[in-house]
Amino acid sequence: MVIGSGIAGGMLGLIPISASAAPFLPTGEWRLAIRNVHNNERFDAVFARGGRFVSAGLAELNHGLRDWRTEEEAPMDRRLLALLVSLRQSLGVTGGKPFDLISGYRSPATNAVLRSRGGAHTGVATKSQHMLGKATDIHLPGVPLERLRDAARALGMGGVGYYPKDGFVHVDTARVRHW
Ligand SMILES: [Zn+2]
Repeated sequence: MVIGSGIAGGMLGLIPISASAAPFLPTGEWRLAIRNVHNNERFDAVFARGGRFVSAGLAELNHGLRDWRTEEEAPMDRRLLALLVSLRQSLGVTGGKPFDLISGYRSPATNAVLRSRGGAHTGVATKSQHMLGKATDIHLPGVPLERLRDAARALGMGGVGYYPKDGFVHVDTARVRHW
């Protein structure tokens, strides 16, 4: 993805929104709050405002969504951030209410460990999206997991996996598919 920081935008830390992400980002303020359930870290950042990305907000969310096992960060897909905001909005939940984050970016090392353990969430269809920074496993406190799943499917912005035993919904920005 091209990050074209014009002179004015660069000075303000604002990045023009690329064509690929534009359909998900109308004007207004795009804010995302997350809490990592593994270490209880909380992040609350505005990552787009008035049709431009906010670089400091993107950086904060890249850090918040990092592989907490290895401390590796990756540039998260901005469409995924927009998907999460859209999902929260579709459920009528305010911007300051954090998603509980079970998994965001996964490094190749972490992914290999998780695969070796087996379990429900190791399928070929989903593993690569976490490694590409295009997937999160989440739940939203106060919202029944089934309702979160249904709202994610209704958005039609990517893949949605339902893991009731593990207490999360997987969402990604790859092609639309459900499991
Ligand atoms: Zn997942």
